[in-house]
Amino acid sequence: MPRKNIAAGNWKMNKNYEEGLVLARNLLVKSSASDALMILATPFIHLKEVGEIIKGQPHLRLAAQNCHPEKSGAYTGEISLDMLKSVGVTHVILGHSERREYFHESNELLAQKVNAVLENGLTPIFCCGERLDIREAGTHVSYVADQIKESLFHLSAEDFGKIIIAYEPIWAIGTGVTASPEQAQAMHREIRQMIAGKYNATVADNCSILYGGSVKPGNAVELFGQPDVDGGLVGGASLKAEDFCAIYDAFGKSES
Ligand code: PEP
Repeated sequence: MPRKNIAAGNWKMNKNYEEGLVLARNLLVKSSASDALMILATPFIHLKEVGEIIKGQPHLRLAAQNCHPEKSGAYTGEISLDMLKSVGVTHVILGHSERREYFHESNELLAQKVNAVLENGLTPIFCCGERLDIREAGTHVSYVADQIKESLFHLSAEDFGKIIIAYEPIWAIGTGVTASPEQAQAMHREIRQMIAGKYNATVADNCSILYGGSVKPGNAVELFGQPDVDGGLVGGASLKAEDFCAIYDAFGKSES
């Protein structure tokens, strides 16, 4: 499948039940459908109702922020893919840096989650990205390459074609510091070349690679205008309907 432009909003652990539904309804009203996808990664409690709110809208999709790789069982506090599918989830964020850091998710565990998401016919949004010390040491490309190799490169070309990648430099997440469009483009290009090297140019060309890290209405046009940046994974700015819709509307507006 050819790559798509995507604005994915990661609500993280924000919004109580009512507040979340208000946000979803506002997004429905304020977003003008286009060829780009708007994906809403809500907390678990919102999924079913937000799924109802966005039902039938061709540009809107529902995502979970995590899942457990096992089918079911004694995993207190966890959620299975069967549960997520049963409320209309189509995408699952995997390997967000917050889950890697606070919940010690390894590349190996993420490979299991990627497999489980694909086996269930859902789309993984696989996050990768380096800490500031790694960027400063100049080893960010090989660090991100290892994350991708260890969690994704066991996949067949066909399965890899179902993955969305989100490059999120940790130093830019929630900090207000955004990677420059040139820094984002350089890493996205590296990632696309890694994929071409492992699979082929068509698989690489067809992979949607999102940038995440303080994307805002004011920088989205320039970031999304980079040739290898296919959209954004957005945290803070996805919590306000006006801001997230402005980010969604940024596709195709760049001169570059
Ligand atoms: C994120 O959490 O994935 C993220 C990019 O957050 P923010 O947009 O707030 O930097």
